[in-house]
Amino acid sequence: MDILLLGSGGREDALAWAMRQSPSCGKLLAAPGNPGIARWAECVSIDPTSPQAVVALAQQEHIGLVVVGPEAPLVAGVADACRAAGIPVFGPTAAAAELEGSKGFTKDLCAAEGIPTAAYVRTERVDEALAALHRFGLPVVIKADGLAAGKGVTVAATRAEAEAAIRAAGDGPLVIEEFLEGEEASLFALVDGELAVPLASAQDHKRVGEADTGPNTGGMGAYSPAPVLTPELEQCAMDAIVGPTARAMAARGTPFSGVLYAGLMLTEEGPKLIEYNARFGDPECEAIMPRLDGDVAALLHAVATGRLADIDPPRLKPAVSMTVVVAAEGYPGTPRKGGLIDGIEAAERVEGVTVFQAGTARHGSGALLAAGGRVLAVTALGDTLAQARARAYRAVDAIDYADGFCRRDIGWRELAREQA
Ligand code: ATP
Repeated sequence: MDILLLGSGGREDALAWAMRQSPSCGKLLAAPGNPGIARWAECVSIDPTSPQAVVALAQQEHIGLVVVGPEAPLVAGVADACRAAGIPVFGPTAAAAELEGSKGFTKDLCAAEGIPTAAYVRTERVDEALAALHRFGLPVVIKADGLAAGKGVTVAATRAEAEAAIRAAGDGPLVIEEFLEGEEASLFALVDGELAVPLASAQDHKRVGEADTGPNTGGMGAYSPAPVLTPELEQCAMDAIVGPTARAMAARGTPFSGVLYAGLMLTEEGPKLIEYNARFGDPECEAIMPRLDGDVAALLHAVATGRLADIDPPRLKPAVSMTVVVAAEGYPGTPRKGGLIDGIEAAERVEGVTVFQAGTARHGSGALLAAGGRVLAVTALGDTLAQARARAYRAVDAIDYADGFCRRDIGWRELAREQA
């Protein structure tokens, strides 16, 4: 089976690596790819968000599976176009990707299906939102919906802060919700339009600074599994949250197909949904892919063709993993580009380590240069998180990249528990 992978980040490098290891993967193309992905795939410079360009390339190359990494092609309808052309695609239609795109849509679906999530109201105007505040205690969470999604979440500790957030957002769709107390964990499930099966859990570190301080980033590191999401809690989240969501989407005529990434709050009352994403997380994907056993390409193909029930459930190696992101100085503000990167081969000689590339570019001279905010995702497998951590940082230290920095405390919460 020949495969076309869409995207150009660390997540896609991990997906390309996993496809390349899969016995069922024949030719592997990536659009547009990056120098890391070029180790496993032939990179083709088409626009991955253009449905016409993707379908034309897939038809010309007789592609048997299109794997969509990032959200943008999904929102642009690339998966819809592939399906319409009869090309199996791993990734949801634009309608099903609403689970990520619209917080209001997902909250209403939870309410209709009895899926545990924070109590909420949706408002359209500032006065309406201010009036709704009295229904909630403190802290209270204010989220911009629609186009500003992802840019505007305020956890307000005081009523004045909440009012300021509402006024700053202005008229427009908001979701106001109850603050949930607990620890966050992510559950990644494969959904084939009908059936949902768990793949793996993970926890990430969103803040740029150690001890989870400073501005938010795309993610500075992750580890998998997240032991706080015990097998019992995972089962509970599948039964009460992910499974009912998959069935409801199918019943509404907008079946979800791909990876459904549930951001969960583990509350005293059990797991509750904070948000869905319609694709793998980055860097969670880099932590999860090396843990998977078996033919991952065949697994994604079964998802794409609605045949999850016909194959064995996903298998994981008896190993844990940690991913440490190396970012360019200045990130998440203006990252310094053009820094020389060397020593990746040395880093990959550390046992259990793979260095995935995110924002890199190959200079004409052959040198590898930084070309983005998050530059490398250094992943290590180990028997314990402490071992994975030691290997990951040994690998980071083998890399010569003067402009780079990383957090030195990835996994701190779990490591403290492991040592307790
Ligand atoms: P992301 O960048 O994770 O996709 P987002 O902007 O789409 O985020 P959410 O995931 O809904 O927004 O919220 C961002 C963060 O705010 C969550 O990871 C969580 O830490 C916090 N948060 C959101 N909703 C709640 C809630 N109801 N109770 C407590 N914390 C919350």
